[in-house]
Amino acid sequence: MHDACGVVGISLKENCNNVAKSVYYALYALQHRGQEAAGIAVHDGKAIRIHRGMGLVAEVFNDAQIGLLRGSVGIGHARYPTTGRSCIENTQPVMVRYKDGAIAVAHNGNLVNSALLRGQLEQSGDIFNSSSDTEVIAHLLVRELLRHDLPEAMRAVMRKIVGSYTLVFLFGDTILAVRDPLGIKPLCLGEMDTGMIVASESAAIDTLNGKLIRDVKPGEMLVLRNGEVKSYRLARTQNPAHCIFEYIYFARPDSIMDGRLIYDARINIGQKLAEEHPTDADTVSPIPDSGITLAVGYHKHSGISYKECLMKNRYIGRTFIMPDQGMRETAVRLKMNVIKPNVQGHKLVLVDDSIVRGTTSRRIVDMVRKAGAEKVNVRIGSPPIMAPCYLGIDMASREELIAAYKTVAGVEAVINADSLGYVSHKGLVEAIGIPKEHLCMGCLTGMYPLEIPGEKCVAAQTKLTEYLALEGEDDSLLLKKGQRLGTVLK
Ligand code: AMP
Repeated sequence: MHDACGVVGISLKENCNNVAKSVYYALYALQHRGQEAAGIAVHDGKAIRIHRGMGLVAEVFNDAQIGLLRGSVGIGHARYPTTGRSCIENTQPVMVRYKDGAIAVAHNGNLVNSALLRGQLEQSGDIFNSSSDTEVIAHLLVRELLRHDLPEAMRAVMRKIVGSYTLVFLFGDTILAVRDPLGIKPLCLGEMDTGMIVASESAAIDTLNGKLIRDVKPGEMLVLRNGEVKSYRLARTQNPAHCIFEYIYFARPDSIMDGRLIYDARINIGQKLAEEHPTDADTVSPIPDSGITLAVGYHKHSGISYKECLMKNRYIGRTFIMPDQGMRETAVRLKMNVIKPNVQGHKLVLVDDSIVRGTTSRRIVDMVRKAGAEKVNVRIGSPPIMAPCYLGIDMASREELIAAYKTVAGVEAVINADSLGYVSHKGLVEAIGIPKEHLCMGCLTGMYPLEIPGEKCVAAQTKLTEYLALEGEDDSLLLKKGQRLGTVLK
């Protein structure tokens, strides 16, 4: 089960040459979005310099490496693989060279037609270094740049690629930031004393003591150069499709995403959960860490006292040596431990964000029962996850999703809870405060906002129609070559 990725792009004023430090700190703030690999690319005035590696941001970089990455413009990536194997070749930023120079790119999202595009490119002689869809995007851009100016080239690429993408390119002394036409994955723009930043989440902007200006609009391209920014709208969609899972689980609670503070959304979801699924429990506890804010919301609405019953070890990294079979229990307890006195003889309501395969919930219910809980009620801040995600969250295959083939009562039995309640679709949408027509709820409904082979599209076909328009059927929705929608900052 994999997280989405984190991307960042920073353009400092010309006289600053320590952009790598800022990118590093921003990546640190986005670490929750991907712990498998990290990378930074900077332009030093003459060429792109890049350093990438497997592991956490702090494991990949040290002072010396950061010191070598001199320049005023840079991009970064924290990776969890959604496409491509887990290996050094698939770490990002990806760099490609072409006749006019080099381009580095960092990508959050997943293309659904990447294999097709790669096949076409390979047919015409392109050679790839990795199995990631990001390299496909870079190749496509290079080809279009041979024929078009930048906005037109990017628009041509966007017509070809289908899926979710926020892309941050390093292109000479310039950063290009693009959000897909449906705005599936997040991207926001911020301002610092020393320059401009785009990042997956506003928490990264806060970390650099910057100010969030706004979200990048679906279908928009920003060009950051010398600490200034220009905006181009390359595609327009009536209904965006923001990933609902960002609000439920992925994003940091302190991030503001598409106008919503994630913390507020989660408090609201917890309150809805209490309203829809009350209990006679005496203690409400989160399943850490993702259940914390939801549990606070549940507590606020129900009045049931809030007490943490489980503690998570936050320091289990990639290098954690899994104990052998005989020590399975040790492994579980290493990751999560019960606070026994808070559990013993209590009627609990445990709040978590989601049940994917059901293994985590089952394990935790067993742990608290063993510690003496009298009753274990489970409440979940999302409706049942019954369909896979093709758009950037590598959750599980349909066969692995417990709710794909079991009723709520069936899941309740598997996880061994006294009661189980999921927040409703309606409750969730109200709690987030974004109309359901503007959300991607594919994993919760099995209906996707764009065409995915073998799957259903959202019934109100607007999203599909708009997307087909982007594919070139209705050019009136697209800007003419080179047309500029105005600059954000003067
Ligand atoms: P499972 O044991 O498969 O039911 O996993 C459910 C747990 O995984 C919940 O506690 C979630 O917080 C967490 N979770 C949900 N989605 C993801 C994801 N895409 N990546 C990592 N963890 C997740």
